[in-house]
Amino acid sequence: MDRRRFISCVGLGSLATGCAGLGRPAKTEGIQREHVMKNEAIAIDASFPGGNIILDRLDGDSVYLRQDPRDTPRWWFYWAFRVRGAAGRSLTFHFTGGNVVGLRGPARSRDGGWTWEWLGMENAALNRFAYRFAADENDVRFSMGMPYQEAQLTAFLKRYDRNPRLRLGRLCTTAQGRNVERLNFGCLDREPQYRVLLTARHHCCEMMANYELEGIMEEVMSDSQAGEWLARHVEFLAIPFMDKDGVENGDQGKSRDPHDHCEDYGRDSIYPSVAALKALAPAWSQGKLVFALDLHCPAIRGEFHDVILCPDRLRGRENWQRTAEYLEILERAGQGPLRFNLEDSRRFNGWDGSGKEGASPNQFSTWVRTVPGVRIGTVIELPYASAGGREVNQDTARAFGRDLARALHEYLDRRGA
Ligand SMILES: [Zn+2]
Repeated sequence: MDRRRFISCVGLGSLATGCAGLGRPAKTEGIQREHVMKNEAIAIDASFPGGNIILDRLDGDSVYLRQDPRDTPRWWFYWAFRVRGAAGRSLTFHFTGGNVVGLRGPARSRDGGWTWEWLGMENAALNRFAYRFAADENDVRFSMGMPYQEAQLTAFLKRYDRNPRLRLGRLCTTAQGRNVERLNFGCLDREPQYRVLLTARHHCCEMMANYELEGIMEEVMSDSQAGEWLARHVEFLAIPFMDKDGVENGDQGKSRDPHDHCEDYGRDSIYPSVAALKALAPAWSQGKLVFALDLHCPAIRGEFHDVILCPDRLRGRENWQRTAEYLEILERAGQGPLRFNLEDSRRFNGWDGSGKEGASPNQFSTWVRTVPGVRIGTVIELPYASAGGREVNQDTARAFGRDLARALHEYLDRRGA
């Protein structure tokens, strides 16, 4: 088995070879947002935030379609589309762009993208699924994951309206004029002992990370022991959508041309959000930023894509040992249904046996470790659908986020706060 096939989405940097064998390469195509096909009143489209599909043809009850790579030149697998006017019909959706259905089949939403569930593999294969629309199902969304957009974040934040532990702000405006949200939460009413930076969606298709981020925030905002401690000692800064345009447009984002947001931390950043964060973080830190966590999702399947992973390999033994100190707590103290297994990351990080520094110098986690005071700057990869055989969904991803926060409490408290 060629282990290079099982890459992490950020763990291999320039060594990344793509998910060889998991699908065929697709040529770069321009942004095509208005793919609507109508047949006997059936309408299939991607004209909503996060939508992504190219319709090839509709042939009887068979729909032929594929993910839209846009400016990602390598094969990638994100898709999300809507079907209207198919109530009472049975359709089979054939994907012509490779194996883009995950381990638990497609995800479905019947309420406009607010709640999602996996349909399973009973009526699905890696490149197709069949679906019988109920008599009252006139507007159904399907995706390879459980899309999370600005609207979901806005609804989540409403729960903490006027809460003194949360302050909403703006990191910057994107190239397309969108607001990039900046969330400060936790210890805001006094000088904190520590600062912690959280980021998500450097690769915009990796939406499960945002449910995880909600979980972290829920714990910090709660009156649990960890929440109370974190709110007394730690100020958090979170950027939920580093590639906000990509999130709302429904891009792949991963490996976009000429490089993606995660690889934009070199000297001349081209994305406003990255340039703004590079300027903000050191000034905000005041030497107290000790922990930075970048939330990702891996590829769609594979040995190291079906477990929760810290892909910190090639960043040096000392860094790995510091990170492992936190990860050991996460493994031992986890309470939610999704469990972190340190051995998975040890195997991944050690597979080349070199232990040499070799990560891309332009990646977020490489850059953030240059900010004075940062002790751990790392990445967690949460699979889209299945982690160690357990179901990843909106609720379990949030629960894992709460575990991340509780482990952070224990890690920082142990350091003598
Ligand atoms: Zn990623």
